[in-house]
Amino acid sequence: MADVLPPLPQPNPDTQEFWDGCRRHELRLQRCDDCGTARFSPRPACPRCASLRHTWFTAAGRGTVYSWTIVHAPTLPAFAARVPYAMALVELEEGPFLVGQLRDCEPAKIRAGLRVAVRFEDVAEDVALPHWRPA
Ligand SMILES: [Zn+2]
Repeated sequence: MADVLPPLPQPNPDTQEFWDGCRRHELRLQRCDDCGTARFSPRPACPRCASLRHTWFTAAGRGTVYSWTIVHAPTLPAFAARVPYAMALVELEEGPFLVGQLRDCEPAKIRAGLRVAVRFEDVAEDVALPHWRPA
């Protein structure tokens, strides 16, 4: 069977800065200019105070596992060779949550509160995707 490429991000005006950051191996987040809330995913309005003003910043790229699941059935043919793999909901130090693959960690060692750090994989000439590893 020929290699099947995974779906790649399709940036829009709200998410372009996030994906540009990934390409530079930086985790870029928005912070509300009015109430200070850091947020993900990128969006026009603050979910806390509805302000339309925000500033992008580079997050530390660290967090803790809040929850996770082990994928045994590939969600797409492109992921068939990866199963089983772990998907983790990570609570970033800055507050927001971000879902990503958790690599280099045996499933039995995954637990809530596990400290993780973001890494980036260059998957195409101008596309890098974030994932997590134990820190
Ligand atoms: Zn706000």
